[in-house]
Amino acid sequence: MTLAAAAALEKTAQESYVELAKPSLIGLSRAELMQRLEGIGVPASQRKMRAQQLWHWIYVRGVTQFADMTSISKELRGQLAEHFTVDRPEVVAEQISADGTRKWLLRLPSGLAGERAHEVECVYIPETDRGTLCLSSQVGCTLNCAFCHTGTQKLVRNLTAGEIVGQVMVAKDRLGDWPLALDAEKKDGSNRLVTNIVMMGMGEPLYNFDAVRDALLVVSDNEGIGLSRRRITLSTSGVVPNIVRAGEEIGVMLAISLHAVRDELRDVLVPLNRKYPLKDVLQACRDYPGASNARRITFEYVMLKGVNDSLDDAKLLVKLLKGIPAKINLIPFNPWPGSAYQCSDWDQIERFSEYIFNAGYSSPVRTPRGRDILAACGQLKSETEKLSAREREALRAMALTD
Ligand code: SAH
Ligand code: SF4
Repeated sequence: MTLAAAAALEKTAQESYVELAKPSLIGLSRAELMQRLEGIGVPASQRKMRAQQLWHWIYVRGVTQFADMTSISKELRGQLAEHFTVDRPEVVAEQISADGTRKWLLRLPSGLAGERAHEVECVYIPETDRGTLCLSSQVGCTLNCAFCHTGTQKLVRNLTAGEIVGQVMVAKDRLGDWPLALDAEKKDGSNRLVTNIVMMGMGEPLYNFDAVRDALLVVSDNEGIGLSRRRITLSTSGVVPNIVRAGEEIGVMLAISLHAVRDELRDVLVPLNRKYPLKDVLQACRDYPGASNARRITFEYVMLKGVNDSLDDAKLLVKLLKGIPAKINLIPFNPWPGSAYQCSDWDQIERFSEYIFNAGYSSPVRTPRGRDILAACGQLKSETEKLSAREREALRAMALTD
């Protein structure tokens, strides 16, 4: 590939931004917390215990200031407040739809004067048996999938682990989802509101591997927020070298944005395919640690009218996935201003779905109505507008229910 073609394929993520004078402790590992404690002179013999206390106050109780951490000495609380915060990203806007779906627009530090604010969105989708939180991993995205709104955003930067965990903190704050805030917290946590997480907001999580890994390890820690890794799904457009790593180092469920079953078409829809073609993506799926019939890999497939929605495509899809413990998530395309595609007709989505269902795959399309039921995610862009009915349907379609 020529350099120019490579540049068109991937914008460069801006890694640097100015760290806050008083950084937040949200998102740090226990070891990092202990380092921070060392930095402010906490004696070695106390660091482990203090880090444990902080962990509990931050991730079990959800407190937002050191003053409330009453098991920690007043003196240390004062010292902590002098150097750190437990701040979350700033909530710029919150939209709550009639069905309870919530969307938050969050502002992150940019640090550079005059620069457009760095903003990401985070969405909560309640259902009867679960509540799914859709998190962003980057501001914008370096990839340019042809059907995705996020990919058109120029400004790109990786989120820190703190900013990823911060989205969970904001959601739990706004929902009142800290154990002590729930009327009667059940032992098994079954009345929790945030029960599942999907890394399906803005950005390509496997291009921000370390921060995503660190954040998900914090969120799944048993002594804190305690979300099971089986309830966390990471979606990737196919960054092959990091797929198996994700299984090994994070151990969460995997979703692949497949969208096409032939390289010629996938090269256009998901340009990263030119670097990591279908064969390599599918091999990485076969090698994914922990994949089994009980832990299937989800294949996301956006339904684009006349582009990838024929029965031949469905047949080839079934053939390609042979031998991989898989489920298929059909996503009605969600158009955006200037997008070049249309959503498949509802009848066609049903035919497609039926074919793969008959071939033995679960293939939820979670959209009850006809043509106007188009879809979803990937639509996230740093903009404040009300959630439309269509968007809500779309977001629910993304909630990955079996
Ligand atoms: N970057 C990651 C995760 C975020 S996108 C990825 O691509 O997997 C989450 C899902 O929404 C992906 O499957 C993506 O392909 C899909 N998507 C993007 N734009 C869409 C659109 N306009 N309509 C429907 N789905 C879309
Ligand atoms: Fe990026 Fe995913 Fe959108 Fe592709 S679909 S541009 S990888 S966010």
